[in-house]
Amino acid sequence: MTTQRILIIEDEPEIANYLRRGLVLEGFQVTVAADGPTGLAAARETPHDLVILDLMLPGIDGLEVARRLRAASDVPIIILTARDAVADRVRGLENGADDYLVKPFAFEELLARIRVQLRRRQASSGSEVLRFGNLTLDTAARELRVGERRVELTAKEYDLLELFMRHPNQVLTREVIYDRVWGYDFGGESNIIEVYVRYLRQKLEAHGEPRVIHTVRGAGYILREE
Ligand code: CA
Repeated sequence: MTTQRILIIEDEPEIANYLRRGLVLEGFQVTVAADGPTGLAAARETPHDLVILDLMLPGIDGLEVARRLRAASDVPIIILTARDAVADRVRGLENGADDYLVKPFAFEELLARIRVQLRRRQASSGSEVLRFGNLTLDTAARELRVGERRVELTAKEYDLLELFMRHPNQVLTREVIYDRVWGYDFGGESNIIEVYVRYLRQKLEAHGEPRVIHTVRGAGYILREE
């Protein structure tokens, strides 16, 4: 496998160094740019597999950098922002960002988001088949098999199951699930996740198969073989 290149555009040296060290340890090749123009030049000079972009930058601000990066290529962009306002997230999305992380964040969380973006990109450039227990999910055809049995899923059921299958044996909070499957405005009172988990379980367990989507009381859900 070739080394994947990540471009970090971040003006705070401590954060940039922290990210660079962590990502190099994970085997990535990392370029750091401390402002918008340098970042755009680095992106033009060398193709990168992913860009981590701070929103508050000197020179050209992060939203404008995102817009220009997106105009030039389809490189995945993860925005780092100290602001938690929904409006900023929406503006960032309109400018072509693929995901967000609000500072302060755990490095592991950033790493997980990076891997999702890199896998998503790989998936869109070819087919990827996810397997867990007796489940086989063909992400190109969006087809599920439970053992040999072909199971029809609605679009949201598919998105929810794909999220679980990309994060097996990991507790997914309701907020994360809502964020990834339904969007960014978390309606905390909604029971839509419970409803869809119930639909999925009915389909996955229709022939008496063992349960794989488990409720973790007070935390969320986990895809796990008992
Ligand atoms: Ca900054």
